[in-house]
Amino acid sequence: MNVGVIIVAGGRGARVGAGLPKQLLEIGGRTILRRAIDAFDGHPQVDRLVVVLPSELVTDATKFIGATSRPCHVAAGGATRHDSVRLGLEAMPAGPDVILVHDAARPFTSTDLIGRVIAAAEDCGAAVPALPAGETVKRVDREARFVRETIAREEIWLAQTPQGFRRSVLEAAVARPGGAAATDDAVLVERAGLPVRVVQGEAANVKITTPDDLAAARARLSGPPRVGTGYDLHRLAQGRRLVLAGVEVASDGGPLGHSDGDVVCHAVVDAMFGAAAAGDIGLHFPDTDPRWKDAAGLDLVGRARAIVHAAGLVVSSVDVTVVLERPKLAPHVAAIVERLARALGVEPDRVSVKAKTNEGADAVGRGEAIVAHAVAVLVGTASI
Ligand code: MG
Repeated sequence: MNVGVIIVAGGRGARVGAGLPKQLLEIGGRTILRRAIDAFDGHPQVDRLVVVLPSELVTDATKFIGATSRPCHVAAGGATRHDSVRLGLEAMPAGPDVILVHDAARPFTSTDLIGRVIAAAEDCGAAVPALPAGETVKRVDREARFVRETIAREEIWLAQTPQGFRRSVLEAAVARPGGAAATDDAVLVERAGLPVRVVQGEAANVKITTPDDLAAARARLSGPPRVGTGYDLHRLAQGRRLVLAGVEVASDGGPLGHSDGDVVCHAVVDAMFGAAAAGDIGLHFPDTDPRWKDAAGLDLVGRARAIVHAAGLVVSSVDVTVVLERPKLAPHVAAIVERLARALGVEPDRVSVKAKTNEGADAVGRGEAIVAHAVAVLVGTASI
């Protein structure tokens, strides 16, 4: 058996409203279209692909599609979905005897689902993946919005793609008149009086139609937020500068240390590494390495940001508490927040800096040391 796949990306995605056709928006570092292509390009039973793009994008098709391991042809879409499928089918070379048609807006199609559709299409002539309706289904007046009746739910299934067809069945169905309003391809086969087998769909095989769908898809790829804590203490000495997140605070003394002793930045860096389970500041910037002697704290924050980004994470928010007996930090907090936010690449409303004293207790209270505690929340890069 030879299998061809038509990926229909002809729509302009007005419902997502992000400026780009929705299939070209990225989720987790790849476009929705590319994720759809990858699902089939990596499938052992698929032999070739046709991608139907909006006509204005065809000249830049290589940029939007990228490299594939299977032969991949490009077709310009038409005014309706039905036209786009017809044009995609015309662009499919001879060879495939089973054709799958897939919405580019479904980026999470599994290998198993594709295999089920191929098997059923070969066996029966036409196959759709579908899920049984989980909720009570009402027939409703379009205008007045009154319930007309409740439909027996057992007979209601929600169709997905890819839908699969023997090539001759799809060609005959697409050639039938009246297809312009069809919202899927199986309906054309049904109208021809031919059987369409239902195979089990997948809840994860969602179609990204609204901004909420897009946000849900990104959240799904990024996983739950990750939290890390950081702590730093430096002894204070006369004649040293006191620098917090790059902001110089007028003071009798400042931290002793190998670096600039910027406890705010050091605690934040450790919190970031903690959230990423990526070791600690001493691992990445060891004080035995002359590169980090007198290193600016804010520079280390920027480097930590690049390290966690390489691990697929970005800072969502940080909260810092500085414990210092004197001077009062309140006049400097806004500047510290602003500098820290810039180094972290987040808006200032994602950064909190609080200042406390230790009420004269212990070494911190006697003014012998400065302490900072930090909590950082990191999220997957897919979520932004
Ligand atoms: Mg330190």
